[in-house]
Amino acid sequence: MNDLHTLAARTPGLPCRTTDPDMWFSNYPIDRYRAARFCASCPLLAACREYGVQTRQEWGVWGGVDLTAVETYCGSERGHRMHRRAGEMPCVPCAEAHAVLVEKRRRKRLAEEHAKGGTVRGYDIHLQLEEPACAACRAARREESARRRAGALRGRGQPRTASVASRAAEPATGAPAGAQPLALTA
Ligand code: SF4
Ligand SMILES: [Zn+2]
Ligand SMILES: [Zn+2]
Repeated sequence: MNDLHTLAARTPGLPCRTTDPDMWFSNYPIDRYRAARFCASCPLLAACREYGVQTRQEWGVWGGVDLTAVETYCGSERGHRMHRRAGEMPCVPCAEAHAVLVEKRRRKRLAEEHAKGGTVRGYDIHLQLEEPACAACRAARREESARRRAGALRGRGQPRTASVASRAAEPATGAPAGAQPLALTA
């Protein structure tokens, strides 16, 4: 982990050294945003990010990620996105905030499906919400299954009917029409 310091000492032209280093730890989010953009061209980007995340740095920009902001926004969807961008597992408050948002979005979509009178999509959303589907969505799902079954039966019946019909239309093979059978003589 301390390798980052060794690497940094050996690598000339690091953006956080050649530009204004205070920008990386500024109190102003806009400065840190700019600093993070400078990091994009840094050859140590991945190592630096890993170091910042693994040593739980709570301040400053590390490997293009504003870890101050992650701390500030922890417990929000924004924090969740920041964790993801940093390539780490979201912390518990961020994961919970994200779960709440996902559920809210699903409930909104479910309300739209209910406004249509209950749908198969609504049925699937109930399942995603890990709750029993309402009667209207269950009925929509039953109708859909019945339609599919009927379609499948029709599909299975068709080629058979067609082949019987086509066979009936085929001319009989064997002796040509009008030919007399050979007279068998003893
Ligand atoms: S990635 Fe790390 S070492 Fe490179 S410029 Fe950004 S803060 Fe500096
Ligand atoms: Zn978090
Ligand atoms: Zn429903």
